[in-house]
Amino acid sequence: MPHTNSSSIVIVGAGHCGGRTAQYLREFGFAGAIHLVGDEASPPYERPALSKEVLTAAKPLDALDLLTAERMEALALTRHCASVLSIDTVGKTALLSNGQTLGFGALLFANGGRPRRLGIPGEELPGVLSLRTKDDAARLLGRLRAGQHLAVIGGGFIGLEVAASARKLGCEVTLVEAGPQLMGRVVPAVLADCARAVHASQGVQLHCHVSPVRIEPQDQRLALTLSDGSTVLVDTVLVGIGIVPGVALAEAAGVAVARGILVDAQLRTNIPDVYAAGDVAEFPSPDSGTLMRQETWHNAESQARVAAQNLLGAQVALSAKPWFWSDQYDYQLQLSGEPAPGLVQVVRAQEGGDLILFYLNGSSKIVGICGWGLTARIARDLKIARALVERGASASAEVLADPATRLKSLL
Ligand SMILES: Cc1cc2nc3c(=O)[nH]c(=O)nc-3n(C[C@H](O)[C@H](O)[C@H](O)COP(=O)(O)OP(=O)(O)OC[C@H]3O[C@@H](n4cnc5c(N)ncnc54)[C@H](O)[C@@H]3O)c2cc1C
Repeated sequence: MPHTNSSSIVIVGAGHCGGRTAQYLREFGFAGAIHLVGDEASPPYERPALSKEVLTAAKPLDALDLLTAERMEALALTRHCASVLSIDTVGKTALLSNGQTLGFGALLFANGGRPRRLGIPGEELPGVLSLRTKDDAARLLGRLRAGQHLAVIGGGFIGLEVAASARKLGCEVTLVEAGPQLMGRVVPAVLADCARAVHASQGVQLHCHVSPVRIEPQDQRLALTLSDGSTVLVDTVLVGIGIVPGVALAEAAGVAVARGILVDAQLRTNIPDVYAAGDVAEFPSPDSGTLMRQETWHNAESQARVAAQNLLGAQVALSAKPWFWSDQYDYQLQLSGEPAPGLVQVVRAQEGGDLILFYLNGSSKIVGICGWGLTARIARDLKIARALVERGASASAEVLADPATRLKSLL
């Protein structure tokens, strides 16, 4: 591995991508100081279980940790429980909220994002929660008791996962989505409708085309008024309307930002020796060149690897294709590659109503897939479908649509 001349690397954000990058830096032979600065009390951890197994008590919070305190010590990572307040990219220093100033040879932004706020009256009331951190999950868990009523604002992945977990716990759940369908930003309507049917059959009260207007305290509960004029009385409101990427710190330091911190295919920002990765980074797709931000576990993992190599002086380009999963009840949704509206869309209906959509370009190359089904039944086929995307396999629409075609034979 080529070696950077920097003797010190600062990582802003000790979450999934930051923690993993620190680990890789050591694995790739970096012997200098690694400053991992994070404003959460926990060691770096993986977030996906926060809306799933943690809420249903199938996993304790400390089972999510990516690096234990002992492992960080063994890797000689210097962990700072603080916020980075400002960065001087000329003098190459970072100012922390504990008053410390860290010098750096290279710096990585891996500071993710914060839950988007509703901007309506009553949002600050106790009982109105969001879900991003372990602390958030602990707060939510403390309020999900059988018979309690939870309102979920937002029919995206996190909202739907929380709705599923809350139903498993015996809570009454009302979910409101401002758009015309669930998971509207990325999932095609035909799959969103399957998810909707499952949630409805599990007893979730679903309302699309409806948004919250205000929240007021009422008899120890919360009165949530909606845009259709109705009011629903609940015990807890979970706001799951996406995140705002943490670009302000970078922007104030002169780093170019747009919908995220802008980086090139090597995760370099416009400032020498300053990189960004994970949820916060806006990068060119290795396949299409389209600028994108990915808020996924796989993106945090794969970009950490590339970031670590390039922080050490290599010039490795991003190559991983997007991949995402969401678990809701015993069902799973997966997306991989780049499903896009202009592509040929092939629907493959499988046993029990499971669906896999394939997206083909003009030369019948499979450039993306999106699937939904009972996890135990569809997981294997989704794995193969993802492999077809990874390998850039080609197939005709007829062959893919035919449920009798064994997907493995196309690999
Ligand atoms: C509830 C939940 C469920 C999810 N489920 C899935 C799933 O099923 N599948 C999937 O693919 N993905 C899932 N994800 C997404 C995945 O967890 C994220 O994409 C991933 O955590 C991003 O990693 P990151 O390091 O970029 O950001 P984060 O893990 O958010 O880490 C950023 C860290 O930086 C800290 N920070 C921010 N600003 C500063 C500052 N100025 N100074 C110091 N520290 C700072 C933050 O507090 C945070 O600890 C889920 C996410 C959540 C929240």
